[in-house]
Amino acid sequence: MKFETKAVHIGRHPDKQTGAVATPIHLSTTFEREADGTFPHGNIYSRNGNPNRLSLEECIASLEGGETAAAFSSGQAATMSVLQTLKPGDHVIFPDNVYWGSVKLLKDIFHHWGISYTLTNATDLNELEKSFTPKTKLVWLESPSNPLLKITDLQKAADMIHAHQAVCVVDNTWSTPVIQRPFELGADLVMHSTTKYFGGNSDVLGGVIVSKTDNEFFQKIRMIQQTGGAVPSPFECWLILRSMPSLSLRMNAHSENAQELAEFLEKHPKVTTVFYPGLISHPGHLIAKKQMNGFGGMLSFLVKGGEAAAVSVAGKVKVFTRATSLGGSHSLIEHRASVEGPDTQTPWNLLRISIGLEHIDDLIDDLDQALM
Ligand SMILES: *Cc1c(COP(=O)(O)O)cnc(C)c1O
Repeated sequence: MKFETKAVHIGRHPDKQTGAVATPIHLSTTFEREADGTFPHGNIYSRNGNPNRLSLEECIASLEGGETAAAFSSGQAATMSVLQTLKPGDHVIFPDNVYWGSVKLLKDIFHHWGISYTLTNATDLNELEKSFTPKTKLVWLESPSNPLLKITDLQKAADMIHAHQAVCVVDNTWSTPVIQRPFELGADLVMHSTTKYFGGNSDVLGGVIVSKTDNEFFQKIRMIQQTGGAVPSPFECWLILRSMPSLSLRMNAHSENAQELAEFLEKHPKVTTVFYPGLISHPGHLIAKKQMNGFGGMLSFLVKGGEAAAVSVAGKVKVFTRATSLGGSHSLIEHRASVEGPDTQTPWNLLRISIGLEHIDDLIDDLDQALM
């Protein structure tokens, strides 16, 4: 089956009792045993698994091309489950430009539990190579990175990580499997904040870890999911699964809009730099072209005149909404540094944009008037 067909059908089965085509939401927290003590439907208790979560996991695993997946109550809970497999003394490598919440987990939680970490410029494979220690167990990659849209050659990075016997995890939230398939490039695990493009409507929080193979490492993540209990509710799983059939159409529309907007901004006199891998001027353009199908719906740019000028542009938009997050139908604009806080590495004149599904002419006109 092709991607679009899987997105419609995998994990969905017309309800045997009622014939309902839309998947029912199963709120039951507990499931009946047979007289012989077995569970004929495979469900025991909703923290361990429930029909809506299993449907969602089956669908996402199939779309990423992995064998299995574990859904969580947020992207952060999903990332946590990967870090919770580690032991005190273990070392991990994260990119120096990466979703800031991922680093916050290391700095404010796992560091205190004896996990050491190195933040490195993962775009530069020599820098990455130098960051390994004999204790390195796991390397986290994010390409394009947040918020600078730096590109890492995922295939080359994964080969290096495996040469060091470490696990390669890719946060694929910004691309989704429509744009990028990390398993085909060597990744062992793929993480998503399903809050973003998978949910697609800015109305549900969730996360998922997909594994290329249902191996011992993934079994630990499954155990942490079921025992730790940071799981999504049946309704949340249902909402995310409901958005999957339109994922491919939406991602292509986001990408097309983003490309046009990036080209507009690159020519604008009030903009000094545009970070979008679809631009030929982007240093990672050729690698992005090789490993992505389209370049996604996220971009950042630097406004001439510093922080005040950037904040003023964000203050004048009418079609864009000033808000954090991404992946919904609304275009969002954000002064990223003020969200990340005083010790951020993000330039203070940077605005990050999540391009929505509005008509591109309205988006361009809106930024044009805001940049006046
Ligand atoms: C939002 C986001 C996360 C965190 O996910 P939550 O659902 O907010 O917990 C992780 N990685 C990336 C790239 C994100 O955009």
